[in-house]
Amino acid sequence: MTWYIDFEGYQFDNRYVVKEIAILNKETLECYNYFVKNPAYIPHPPNTQTIQSQFKRHNLRWKFGDHHFLDAISDIILKVKRDAVYCKGPEKAKCLRTWLPHIEEMTWIATSFKKLYNCTAEVCDIKHGLNCARRKVHELHYIDVVLK
Ligand SMILES: [Zn+2]
Repeated sequence: MTWYIDFEGYQFDNRYVVKEIAILNKETLECYNYFVKNPAYIPHPPNTQTIQSQFKRHNLRWKFGDHHFLDAISDIILKVKRDAVYCKGPEKAKCLRTWLPHIEEMTWIATSFKKLYNCTAEVCDIKHGLNCARRKVHELHYIDVVLK
């Protein structure tokens, strides 16, 4: 089995704060997405232009979410087991490798997410816009399987 994974969130000081993370199974199309609370030790977002523009992109407020990150990632680890896990982008791969040591970066897909708009109907239920991790795992599947 193979899974695709992607997340949306905030990036600053060489770290990510994940707000939405999604996985999609290549064969069964099982899809799970999780909305992630801010870390308790960072109760407020840094007051910077960068954070503002990241918020405008994905519309996921700092305090939004119903899972602690470690609960979400533990559930993902249980689901993917030792299956292959693919993600796009070296920084995201590096971040996720902490919890999914066997993750593989999809270096064979050169197209930027900005140019992938085949799965806009797959956005998640809260409709926070197209910068949605659930849509993006479907885009990865589409370009990896359907266009092959
Ligand atoms: Zn979403």
